[in-house]
Amino acid sequence: MGRLCETDGLTDDQREILKAVRTFVEEKILPVATELEHADEYPQEIVDGLKELGIFGLMIPEEYDGLGESLLTYALCVEEIARGWMSVSGVINTHFIVAYMIMQHGTEEQKKKYLPAMAAGEVRGAFSMSEPGLGSDVAAIKTKAVRDGDDYVIDGQKMWLTNGGSSNLIALLVRTDEGADSVYRNMSTFLVEKETGFGEVAPGLTIPGKIDKMGYKGVDTTEAVFEGHRVSADQLLGGEPGKGFYQMMDGVEVGRVNVAARACGIGLRAFELAIAYAQQRETFGKPIAEHQAIMFRLAEMATKVEAAHAMMVRAARQKDTGERNDVEAGMAKMLAAEYCNEVVQDSFRIHGGYGYSKEYEIERLYREAAFMLIGEGTSDIQKMIIGRSLLKDYKLKG
Ligand SMILES: Cc1cc2nc3c(=O)[nH]c(=O)nc-3n(C[C@H](O)[C@H](O)[C@H](O)COP(=O)(O)OP(=O)(O)OC[C@H]3O[C@@H](n4cnc5c(N)ncnc54)[C@H](O)[C@@H]3O)c2cc1C
Repeated sequence: MGRLCETDGLTDDQREILKAVRTFVEEKILPVATELEHADEYPQEIVDGLKELGIFGLMIPEEYDGLGESLLTYALCVEEIARGWMSVSGVINTHFIVAYMIMQHGTEEQKKKYLPAMAAGEVRGAFSMSEPGLGSDVAAIKTKAVRDGDDYVIDGQKMWLTNGGSSNLIALLVRTDEGADSVYRNMSTFLVEKETGFGEVAPGLTIPGKIDKMGYKGVDTTEAVFEGHRVSADQLLGGEPGKGFYQMMDGVEVGRVNVAARACGIGLRAFELAIAYAQQRETFGKPIAEHQAIMFRLAEMATKVEAAHAMMVRAARQKDTGERNDVEAGMAKMLAAEYCNEVVQDSFRIHGGYGYSKEYEIERLYREAAFMLIGEGTSDIQKMIIGRSLLKDYKLKG
């Protein structure tokens, strides 16, 4: 392998895990990724293999049967997996966010009930904030849970649930409107159990079917319709209403490191394909890599891949210290997503006409890269988060 995306200071355990994941990607993911993606087929064998590797429990503490690894280890695994096929990283990402939210904010009963089963991949998580009318403006959600005795009754429509069909547990953000003075304290997260699949998956909860997407195929993305769905008050994450917005934002911060890592993986693969192709394709009597314009393009691509990797690693390490990483995760996500798209575009250009053919992997990466600009908050939203925080930190005194 080449010299890009190396990470200093890893432990032997981390290196071993990454080696196992890279071997899995080379042997089980890369050879089938494009074919499965074109067929929009769920990668069941790959998912089973990831379960065996323990990836579903990577960050879950050992006391709950997970591997107890750091966010950095997780992010580096995601980078490797996305290098093979981004959709596979999508299968584990919402699961990982939900497990993280339960670890950080769940009651002891909730941790005992869900985390061991999540580590085994038996309970699989989806994460639902977005609605048909909103994505960036989370506080505008309309889906509502109203208290009725020991239960809450949920009504409303959710949109864009990654793993909406293949999961059996949804971390769901709703309005609870129980009298707090701020819109942010009137939202709660429920842990909603359901069957996998489509149609009525629990009384009053319908998952209509897969949304047909431009890329990110194989993994299912769905709507969810709640019509009088009853859930016990025990299923409130952390046992209390009014904390949902903050719990979700904590989940999104680790999710952003994850999307940055995915963007790094796609960018790295696009670079690898470009540098290989540029040494094989000849024009005007020599390999195109020997034309300076192509060589410079390759140099710029590699620099972007390295910069994105470094920012992503920094953001993951910051969260691993236990501190907030809103600025670092926002910067990493924005930069990695933008660079990923530029690198993929450059790789596509280097492939000439063949880049436009479905026979070449870059065609898939091109469609996958676009999603990096949107998922876990667009670049505009990252700029808002970064800018607001910097204005606080650098506020003029006096
Ligand atoms: C394939 C896929 C999978 C997804 N998976 C999930 C999931 O699992 N769970 C989930 O909850 N959501 C999921 N989402 C939703 C995703 O998080 C949202 O699409 C994203 O946050 C953007 O929201 P939006 O689509 O409503 O765009 P909007 O919020 O409507 O934004 C439209 C445009 O306006 C810009 N904009 C908005 N507000 C501002 C502002 N204040 N200043 C400047 N520009 C602004 C945006 O940057 C964007 O360019 C998924 C989306 C996709 C496409």
